[in-house]
Amino acid sequence: MATITNKLIRLTAADPLGRQPDPWASFREIEIIELQWAQTYRHSLGKYSRFFVELENKRFLATRCPICSQVWAPPRPVCPDHLAITEWVELSGRGRVESFSILHHPSAMVPYIQPPYVLAYVRLEGADTLFAHLLRCSPAEVHIGLPVQVVYYEGPVAHPIHLMAFEPDNG
Ligand SMILES: [Zn+2]
Repeated sequence: MATITNKLIRLTAADPLGRQPDPWASFREIEIIELQWAQTYRHSLGKYSRFFVELENKRFLATRCPICSQVWAPPRPVCPDHLAITEWVELSGRGRVESFSILHHPSAMVPYIQPPYVLAYVRLEGADTLFAHLLRCSPAEVHIGLPVQVVYYEGPVAHPIHLMAFEPDNG
């Protein structure tokens, strides 16, 4: 008898259309196995790198169009309205919740936090766009308009985006 180490289940599926006779009757036996897929690869943060590097210095950067003065957070290297190369500006890290979701399933993106947790769209002071990220607070506490601030962590983290999160701004 052969051995399959990762076999999970073998079952016979029903014809979803309930046909008699089932034209797929000889193909209804289904076997499900579990496989793992892990990859290690190099990922360039490209023109966004300075934003991530400054998170290590507990500074929150955005970009501003030199023509229309629109401020992008997350940063954009080019203003899409004027095709102008933007310039870096520092924001205070304070803002308000514009929208949010409460998530009840663990995420590969935020493996260090247990559900339920809050993802929020935040309008940062001085920015014209919304920044979506983890908001560390009780789901019962979050509401539209909640003042929040960027908080920084020392790590270790695998991706520099995890050096920051939002928290309610009680100051
Ligand atoms: Zn512009």
